[in-house]
Amino acid sequence: MSIVLRPSRVWSNGESREGWSVRVSGERIEAAGPSLLGEETVDLAGATLLPGLIDAHSHLFLHPYDEVSWDDQVLKEPESYRTVRAVTHARAALRAGFTYLRDLGTEGAGYADVSLKRAIDEGLIEGPRLQIATRAIVATGSYGPARAAYRPDCCLPQGAEEASGVEEIVRAVRVQAAHGADWIKLYGDYRAGPHGETVPTFSQDEMKAAVDAAHDLGRPVSVHAGSDEGLRRAALAGADTIEHGYGGTRDTFALMAERNIAFLPTLAAAKAIAGYFGDPRNNVERSVKSFAHARASGVVIGCGSDAGVFAHGDNARELELMAAHGMSANEALVAATRVNAAILGVGHELGEIREGFLADLVAVDGDPSAEISALRRVRLVMKGGKAVAL
Ligand SMILES: [Zn+2]
Repeated sequence: MSIVLRPSRVWSNGESREGWSVRVSGERIEAAGPSLLGEETVDLAGATLLPGLIDAHSHLFLHPYDEVSWDDQVLKEPESYRTVRAVTHARAALRAGFTYLRDLGTEGAGYADVSLKRAIDEGLIEGPRLQIATRAIVATGSYGPARAAYRPDCCLPQGAEEASGVEEIVRAVRVQAAHGADWIKLYGDYRAGPHGETVPTFSQDEMKAAVDAAHDLGRPVSVHAGSDEGLRRAALAGADTIEHGYGGTRDTFALMAERNIAFLPTLAAAKAIAGYFGDPRNNVERSVKSFAHARASGVVIGCGSDAGVFAHGDNARELELMAAHGMSANEALVAATRVNAAILGVGHELGEIREGFLADLVAVDGDPSAEISALRRVRLVMKGGKAVAL
Protein backbone atom coordinates (compact mmCIF):
# COMPACT_ATOMS: atom_id res chain seq x y z
CA MET A 1 0.00 0.00 0.00
CA SER A 2 1.51 3.33 -1.03
CA ILE A 3 0.47 6.77 0.17
CA VAL A 4 1.28 9.98 -1.66
CA LEU A 5 1.62 13.08 0.50
CA ARG A 6 0.91 16.18 -1.55
CA PRO A 7 2.03 19.37 0.22
CA SER A 8 2.70 22.74 -1.40
CA ARG A 9 6.44 22.15 -0.99
CA VAL A 10 8.89 19.55 0.24
CA TRP A 11 11.78 20.77 2.38
CA SER A 12 14.87 18.68 3.01
CA ASN A 13 18.45 19.56 3.96
CA GLY A 14 18.06 23.27 3.29
CA GLU A 15 16.25 23.04 -0.03
CA SER A 16 12.56 23.72 -0.72
CA ARG A 17 10.92 22.18 -3.76
CA GLU A 18 7.59 23.64 -4.79
CA GLY A 19 5.06 21.20 -6.18
CA TRP A 20 6.87 18.06 -5.06
CA SER A 21 5.15 15.10 -3.44
CA VAL A 22 6.45 12.19 -1.38
CA ARG A 23 5.36 8.58 -1.81
CA VAL A 24 5.52 6.35 1.25
CA SER A 25 5.41 2.59 1.06
CA GLY A 26 5.44 0.57 4.27
CA GLU A 27 7.76 2.29 6.72
CA ARG A 28 9.95 4.00 4.12
CA ILE A 29 10.01 6.78 1.57
CA GLU A 30 9.68 5.25 -1.88
CA ALA A 31 10.02 8.40 -3.94
CA ALA A 32 10.14 12.19 -3.74
CA GLY A 33 9.50 14.38 -6.77
CA PRO A 34 6.91 16.08 -8.98
CA SER A 35 3.66 14.39 -10.08
CA LEU A 36 3.83 11.14 -8.13
CA LEU A 37 0.94 8.70 -8.08
CA GLY A 38 -0.04 6.22 -5.37
CA GLU A 39 -2.95 4.13 -4.17
CA GLU A 40 -3.97 6.79 -1.66
CA THR A 41 -3.36 10.55 -1.71
CA VAL A 42 -3.23 12.91 1.27
CA ASP A 43 -3.85 16.51 0.27
CA LEU A 44 -1.67 18.91 2.25
CA ALA A 45 -2.21 22.09 0.22
CA GLY A 46 -0.65 25.12 1.87
CA ALA A 47 1.71 22.95 3.93
CA THR A 48 5.43 22.23 3.88
CA LEU A 49 6.52 18.62 4.32
CA LEU A 50 9.76 18.15 6.26
CA PRO A 51 11.74 15.27 7.72
CA GLY A 52 10.56 14.44 11.26
CA LEU A 53 12.20 16.85 13.71
CA ILE A 54 14.87 15.62 16.11
CA ASP A 55 15.52 17.07 19.55
CA ALA A 56 18.95 15.93 20.71
CA HIS A 57 18.41 16.94 24.34
CA SER A 58 15.29 16.15 26.31
CA HIS A 59 14.36 14.86 29.76
CA LEU A 60 11.07 13.00 29.42
CA PHE A 61 11.11 12.24 33.15
CA LEU A 62 11.10 15.91 34.16
CA HIS A 63 8.47 18.60 33.96
CA PRO A 64 8.96 22.37 34.34
CA TYR A 65 10.54 23.36 37.66
CA ASP A 66 8.03 26.15 38.25
CA GLU A 67 5.36 23.43 38.46
CA VAL A 68 7.37 21.31 40.91
CA SER A 69 10.97 22.14 41.84
CA TRP A 70 13.66 19.83 40.48
CA ASP A 71 14.54 18.74 44.04
CA ASP A 72 10.93 17.83 44.78
CA GLN A 73 10.58 15.90 41.55
CA VAL A 74 13.68 13.86 42.38
CA LEU A 75 12.90 13.41 46.10
CA LYS A 76 9.11 13.15 46.26
CA GLU A 77 7.79 11.88 42.96
CA PRO A 78 7.86 8.06 42.81
CA GLU A 79 9.46 6.50 39.76
CA SER A 80 6.10 4.99 38.77
CA TYR A 81 4.44 8.43 38.79
CA ARG A 82 7.31 9.92 36.81
CA THR A 83 6.99 7.13 34.27
CA VAL A 84 3.29 7.85 33.75
CA ARG A 85 4.19 11.49 33.21
CA ALA A 86 6.94 10.47 30.76
CA VAL A 87 4.37 8.57 28.68
CA THR A 88 2.30 11.74 28.26
CA HIS A 89 5.44 13.80 27.59
CA ALA A 90 6.57 11.43 24.83
CA ARG A 91 3.18 11.69 23.13
CA ALA A 92 3.26 15.50 23.32
CA ALA A 93 6.68 15.64 21.66
CA LEU A 94 5.62 13.29 18.88
CA ARG A 95 2.43 15.23 18.17
CA ALA A 96 4.52 18.40 17.88
CA GLY A 97 6.44 16.80 15.02
CA PHE A 98 9.45 15.55 16.99
CA THR A 99 9.79 11.98 15.81
CA TYR A 100 13.19 11.37 17.45
CA LEU A 101 14.59 12.39 20.81
CA ARG A 102 17.88 11.86 22.53
CA ASP A 103 16.74 11.71 26.14
CA LEU A 104 19.73 12.67 28.26
CA GLY A 105 19.08 11.10 31.62
CA THR A 106 16.12 10.19 33.81
CA GLU A 107 17.27 12.56 36.60
CA GLY A 108 16.67 10.20 39.48
CA ALA A 109 14.14 7.91 37.80
CA GLY A 110 16.63 5.06 37.49
CA TYR A 111 16.42 2.95 34.38
CA ALA A 112 12.77 3.76 33.67
CA ASP A 113 13.73 5.17 30.26
CA VAL A 114 14.74 1.67 29.13
CA SER A 115 11.15 0.49 29.63
CA LEU A 116 9.71 3.67 28.12
CA LYS A 117 11.77 3.16 24.98
CA ARG A 118 10.75 -0.49 24.83
CA ALA A 119 7.04 0.35 25.16
CA ILE A 120 7.33 2.88 22.31
CA ASP A 121 9.25 0.44 20.10
CA GLU A 122 6.65 -2.26 20.77
CA GLY A 123 3.83 0.13 19.85
CA LEU A 124 2.24 -0.06 23.31
CA ILE A 125 2.34 3.72 23.61
CA GLU A 126 2.89 6.56 21.16
CA GLY A 127 6.17 8.39 21.25
CA PRO A 128 9.22 9.46 19.29
CA ARG A 129 12.04 7.06 18.55
CA LEU A 130 14.45 7.34 21.47
CA GLN A 131 18.11 7.19 22.25
CA ILE A 132 18.53 7.11 26.00
CA ALA A 133 21.22 7.76 28.61
CA THR A 134 19.63 6.00 31.63
CA ARG A 135 20.88 7.37 34.98
CA ALA A 136 23.77 9.56 33.75
CA ILE A 137 26.96 9.96 35.81
CA VAL A 138 28.04 12.73 38.18
CA ALA A 139 31.06 13.24 40.40
CA THR A 140 30.30 12.33 44.01
CA GLY A 141 28.74 15.22 45.89
CA SER A 142 28.66 17.58 42.93
CA TYR A 143 25.04 17.30 41.84
CA GLY A 144 21.62 17.56 43.42
CA PRO A 145 19.67 17.45 45.55
CA ALA A 146 22.52 19.27 47.33
CA ARG A 147 23.38 17.65 50.65
CA ALA A 148 23.97 21.01 52.33
CA ALA A 149 20.30 21.90 51.87
CA TYR A 150 19.06 18.94 53.97
CA ARG A 151 19.82 17.38 57.37
CA PRO A 152 22.97 15.33 56.97
CA ASP A 153 21.43 12.01 58.03
CA CYS A 154 18.77 12.32 55.33
CA CYS A 155 18.35 9.66 52.74
CA LEU A 156 19.07 11.74 49.70
CA PRO A 157 18.61 10.06 46.33
CA GLN A 158 20.58 11.88 43.64
CA GLY A 159 19.62 13.02 40.14
CA ALA A 160 22.30 10.81 38.60
CA GLU A 161 24.70 8.02 39.58
CA GLU A 162 27.66 9.23 41.62
CA ALA A 163 31.20 8.09 40.88
CA SER A 164 34.70 9.03 42.06
CA GLY A 165 37.95 7.78 40.65
CA VAL A 166 38.73 5.97 37.45
CA GLU A 167 37.58 2.61 38.77
CA GLU A 168 34.14 3.81 39.85
CA ILE A 169 33.43 5.88 36.78
CA VAL A 170 34.44 3.07 34.42
CA ARG A 171 32.22 0.71 36.39
CA ALA A 172 29.28 3.14 36.16
CA VAL A 173 29.74 3.43 32.38
CA ARG A 174 29.72 -0.35 32.01
CA VAL A 175 26.70 -0.91 34.26
CA GLN A 176 24.66 1.79 32.50
CA ALA A 177 25.59 0.44 29.07
CA ALA A 178 24.62 -3.05 30.22
CA HIS A 179 21.21 -1.77 31.29
CA GLY A 180 20.56 -0.24 27.87
CA ALA A 181 22.17 3.21 27.72
CA ASP A 182 22.60 4.25 24.08
CA TRP A 183 24.63 7.26 25.24
CA ILE A 184 26.80 7.77 28.28
CA LYS A 185 26.00 11.16 29.80
CA LEU A 186 28.53 12.79 32.09
CA TYR A 187 28.14 15.98 34.10
CA GLY A 188 31.52 17.59 33.44
CA ASP A 189 30.88 20.53 35.70
CA TYR A 190 28.21 21.77 38.05
CA ARG A 191 27.40 24.40 40.65
CA ALA A 192 29.58 22.73 43.29
CA GLY A 193 31.85 25.68 44.13
CA PRO A 194 31.89 27.19 47.63
CA HIS A 195 29.39 29.85 46.59
CA GLY A 196 27.54 27.79 44.01
CA GLU A 197 29.98 28.63 41.22
CA THR A 198 30.15 26.24 38.30
CA VAL A 199 33.35 24.23 38.65
CA PRO A 200 34.74 21.19 36.83
CA THR A 201 33.70 18.05 38.68
CA PHE A 202 35.57 15.17 37.07
CA SER A 203 39.35 15.20 36.71
CA GLN A 204 40.79 14.91 33.23
CA ASP A 205 41.81 11.31 34.02
CA GLU A 206 38.33 10.34 35.20
CA MET A 207 36.68 11.83 32.15
CA LYS A 208 39.13 10.27 29.74
CA ALA A 209 38.67 6.85 31.36
CA ALA A 210 34.88 7.16 31.11
CA VAL A 211 34.97 8.19 27.45
CA ASP A 212 37.39 5.38 26.57
CA ALA A 213 35.27 2.78 28.39
CA ALA A 214 32.11 4.04 26.64
CA HIS A 215 33.77 4.03 23.23
CA ASP A 216 35.09 0.50 23.78
CA LEU A 217 31.45 -0.48 24.31
CA GLY A 218 30.32 1.36 21.16
CA ARG A 219 28.50 4.07 23.13
CA PRO A 220 29.03 7.74 22.32
CA VAL A 221 29.43 10.24 25.16
CA SER A 222 27.52 13.42 25.93
CA VAL A 223 28.97 15.88 28.42
CA HIS A 224 27.03 18.56 30.25
CA ALA A 225 29.43 21.52 30.57
CA GLY A 226 28.81 25.18 31.26
CA SER A 227 32.27 26.44 32.16
CA ASP A 228 35.04 26.87 29.65
CA GLU A 229 37.26 24.48 31.65
CA GLY A 230 34.46 21.89 31.71
CA LEU A 231 34.12 22.16 27.94
CA ARG A 232 37.87 21.94 27.47
CA ARG A 233 38.21 18.79 29.58
CA ALA A 234 35.32 17.15 27.71
CA ALA A 235 36.91 18.06 24.39
CA LEU A 236 40.33 16.73 25.44
CA ALA A 237 38.72 13.53 26.74
CA GLY A 238 37.18 12.92 23.30
CA ALA A 239 33.47 13.35 24.08
CA ASP A 240 31.09 13.17 21.11
CA THR A 241 28.75 16.01 22.04
CA ILE A 242 28.84 18.83 24.60
CA GLU A 243 25.64 20.36 25.97
CA HIS A 244 24.94 23.96 27.12
CA GLY A 245 28.41 25.58 26.91
CA TYR A 246 27.18 28.98 28.12
CA GLY A 247 30.69 29.93 29.28
CA GLY A 248 32.45 28.60 26.21
CA THR A 249 35.10 30.71 24.51
CA ARG A 250 35.90 30.89 20.83
CA ASP A 251 39.15 28.93 21.37
CA THR A 252 37.40 26.07 23.11
CA PHE A 253 34.71 25.82 20.44
CA ALA A 254 37.53 25.79 17.88
CA LEU A 255 39.13 22.90 19.81
CA MET A 256 35.79 21.08 19.63
CA ALA A 257 35.58 21.74 15.89
CA GLU A 258 39.08 20.37 15.41
CA ARG A 259 38.17 17.23 17.35
CA ASN A 260 34.85 16.81 15.54
CA ILE A 261 32.73 17.24 18.68
CA ALA A 262 29.22 18.60 18.19
CA PHE A 263 27.75 21.42 20.27
CA LEU A 264 24.15 21.56 21.51
CA PRO A 265 23.50 25.08 22.80
CA THR A 266 20.19 24.59 24.79
CA LEU A 267 19.22 28.26 24.39
CA ALA A 268 15.66 27.34 25.37
CA ALA A 269 16.71 26.03 28.79
CA ALA A 270 18.43 29.27 29.80
CA LYS A 271 15.45 31.29 28.62
CA ALA A 272 12.86 29.09 30.36
CA ILE A 273 14.65 29.11 33.72
CA ALA A 274 15.21 32.88 33.54
CA GLY A 275 11.52 33.25 32.75
CA TYR A 276 10.32 31.58 35.90
CA PHE A 277 13.18 32.01 38.41
CA GLY A 278 14.98 35.13 37.17
CA ASP A 279 18.50 35.11 35.81
CA PRO A 280 21.13 36.18 38.40
CA ARG A 281 23.91 34.45 36.44
CA ASN A 282 22.93 36.13 33.16
CA ASN A 283 22.62 32.76 31.51
CA VAL A 284 20.38 34.04 28.74
CA GLU A 285 22.96 36.59 27.65
CA ARG A 286 25.80 34.11 28.12
CA SER A 287 24.00 31.43 26.08
CA VAL A 288 23.46 33.87 23.21
CA LYS A 289 27.09 35.01 23.33
CA SER A 290 28.47 31.48 23.38
CA PHE A 291 26.16 30.55 20.51
CA ALA A 292 27.79 33.35 18.48
CA HIS A 293 31.30 32.14 19.46
CA ALA A 294 30.35 28.62 18.45
CA ARG A 295 29.01 29.76 15.09
CA ALA A 296 32.18 31.70 14.39
CA SER A 297 34.39 28.73 15.35
CA GLY A 298 32.99 26.32 12.77
CA VAL A 299 31.97 23.69 15.34
CA VAL A 300 29.06 21.47 14.29
CA ILE A 301 25.93 22.82 15.97
CA GLY A 302 22.97 20.54 16.53
CA CYS A 303 19.59 21.30 18.03
CA GLY A 304 18.99 20.25 21.62
CA SER A 305 16.48 22.10 23.75
CA ASP A 306 16.61 20.50 27.23
CA ALA A 307 12.82 20.02 27.10
CA GLY A 308 11.56 19.08 30.52
CA VAL A 309 12.96 22.32 31.86
CA PHE A 310 9.98 23.67 29.87
CA ALA A 311 6.94 21.79 28.60
CA HIS A 312 7.35 18.76 26.38
CA GLY A 313 5.81 19.38 22.98
CA ASP A 314 7.24 22.88 23.04
CA ASN A 315 10.56 21.59 21.64
CA ALA A 316 10.38 24.03 18.68
CA ARG A 317 11.45 26.78 21.08
CA GLU A 318 15.08 25.88 20.49
CA LEU A 319 14.78 26.34 16.72
CA GLU A 320 12.98 29.64 17.24
CA LEU A 321 15.79 30.89 19.49
CA MET A 322 18.53 29.69 17.15
CA ALA A 323 16.78 31.61 14.38
CA ALA A 324 16.37 34.67 16.62
CA HIS A 325 20.09 34.71 17.49
CA GLY A 326 21.99 34.42 14.26
CA MET A 327 20.99 31.35 12.31
CA SER A 328 18.56 31.56 9.43
CA ALA A 329 15.34 29.59 9.84
CA ASN A 330 16.71 27.28 7.18
CA GLU A 331 19.93 26.61 9.15
CA ALA A 332 17.98 25.91 12.32
CA LEU A 333 15.87 23.36 10.45
CA VAL A 334 18.98 21.68 9.05
CA ALA A 335 20.40 21.50 12.61
CA ALA A 336 17.23 19.78 13.88
CA THR A 337 17.10 17.30 11.00
CA ARG A 338 20.18 16.33 8.99
CA VAL A 339 22.78 17.50 11.52
CA ASN A 340 21.01 15.89 14.48
CA ALA A 341 20.55 12.64 12.55
CA ALA A 342 24.31 12.58 11.93
CA ILE A 343 25.02 13.30 15.62
CA LEU A 344 22.74 10.41 16.58
CA GLY A 345 24.43 8.10 14.07
CA VAL A 346 21.25 7.60 12.02
CA GLY A 347 22.03 9.93 9.11
CA HIS A 348 21.90 7.04 6.65
CA GLU A 349 18.12 6.68 7.03
CA LEU A 350 16.75 9.70 8.88
CA GLY A 351 17.01 13.50 8.83
CA GLU A 352 16.31 13.97 5.12
CA ILE A 353 13.51 13.22 2.70
CA ARG A 354 15.14 10.72 0.39
CA GLU A 355 14.25 7.54 -1.36
CA GLY A 356 14.80 4.59 0.97
CA PHE A 357 14.88 6.69 4.15
CA LEU A 358 12.45 5.96 6.98
CA ALA A 359 9.15 7.78 6.54
CA ASP A 360 9.38 10.01 9.61
CA LEU A 361 7.74 13.18 8.35
CA VAL A 362 5.99 16.29 9.55
CA ALA A 363 3.76 18.70 7.61
CA VAL A 364 3.17 22.22 8.88
CA ASP A 365 1.06 25.05 7.51
CA GLY A 366 3.12 27.75 5.82
CA ASP A 367 6.86 27.72 5.14
CA PRO A 368 9.05 27.24 8.23
CA SER A 369 12.24 27.83 6.21
CA ALA A 370 11.03 31.43 5.85
CA GLU A 371 9.13 31.77 9.13
CA ILE A 372 10.29 29.32 11.80
CA SER A 373 7.17 29.67 13.95
CA ALA A 374 5.23 27.83 11.23
CA LEU A 375 6.55 24.73 13.06
CA ARG A 376 3.78 25.36 15.58
CA ARG A 377 1.10 24.71 12.96
CA VAL A 378 1.38 20.95 12.67
CA ARG A 379 -0.94 19.35 10.10
CA LEU A 380 0.44 15.82 9.93
CA VAL A 381 3.00 13.70 11.75
CA MET A 382 4.13 10.38 10.37
CA LYS A 383 6.52 7.95 12.07
CA GLY A 384 7.72 4.91 10.19
CA GLY A 385 5.02 5.41 7.54
CA LYS A 386 2.19 5.54 10.08
CA ALA A 387 0.21 8.75 10.61
CA VAL A 388 -0.01 9.86 14.23
CA ALA A 389 -3.46 10.90 15.51
CA LEU A 390 -3.16 14.59 16.39
ZN1 LIG B 1 19.58 18.38 30.26
